[in-house]
Amino acid sequence: MSHTLFCTAINCMDGRTQLPAIQYLQRRFNVAYVDMITEAGPSRILAEGDDRERIEAIRKRTNISVTAHGSTVIAVVGHVDCAGNPVSDEEQWAHLKKAVTRLRQWYPELTVLALWVDDQWRVREITWPQDKPVLETLRQ
Ligand SMILES: [Zn+2]
Repeated sequence: MSHTLFCTAINCMDGRTQLPAIQYLQRRFNVAYVDMITEAGPSRILAEGDDRERIEAIRKRTNISVTAHGSTVIAVVGHVDCAGNPVSDEEQWAHLKKAVTRLRQWYPELTVLALWVDDQWRVREITWPQDKPVLETLRQ
């Protein structure tokens, strides 16, 4: 089986989140490259779903990453102090949950996950085991 070189991140355009997301995903999935799709507060765009133009732009770019680069992992990334989505962390986590749900509908065969970049620019993975957010750090 050939090694997957690429994964995909749907990240905020905030410059503080780029390297942490890339480095986390490289470690977590052993990929060389992270295709970066950026918007201002993408989790809210994907959660609300009413900005069809932007949704389609995200989807189009994600499709390129999946079909041309063979990405099998899509991460949607949120972070503290987001100017594009200036709501509480808890509200952002709820947006991330909905964004993950939408992406899993688009790509049921792929791995979709939510990442959170905290106030020290560490990356945590969010899961919702009992419908409540749990933030985990990468175990090695
Ligand atoms: Zn942001």
